[in-house]
Amino acid sequence: MSDCIFCKIIAGEIPCKKIYEDGEMLAFHDIRPQAPVHFLLIPKKHIKSVMDMEPEDTPLVGRLVNKAQELAKELGCGEKGARFVINAKSDGGQTVDHLHIHILGGRMLSWPPG
Ligand code: AMP
Ligand code: ZN
Repeated sequence: MSDCIFCKIIAGEIPCKKIYEDGEMLAFHDIRPQAPVHFLLIPKKHIKSVMDMEPEDTPLVGRLVNKAQELAKELGCGEKGARFVINAKSDGGQTVDHLHIHILGGRMLSWPPG
């Protein structure tokens, strides 16, 4: 998607602080971190949101969750945990229309969200 900021990051047209990359996913630090650990993990396939994913995307999203867990541990959240968030569409607070998992950790997070 030519007008998608995350597709531009994948294409290298916009810089990011990369944490991990393979053929189907990319992880990078959020530009406005809300916790000591706050990174995003995105599929390279442009899927608009978790509300738009197709059944065929299920294995890919499963691998994303698995990698999110692995990277969260690598960044020091293994013992105390982290929050794995997928905002979807307007009521969900999604601002970038390319499926992404937020991984937040390094401090106690409140619940419920405002
Ligand atoms: P959401 O509101 O769930 O769609 O989350 C989008 C996230 O992307 C926000 O936390 C932004 O801070 C983050 N973000 C937007 N642009 C960039 C960028 N160029 N590099 C890294 N993170 C970004
Ligand atoms: Zn995209």
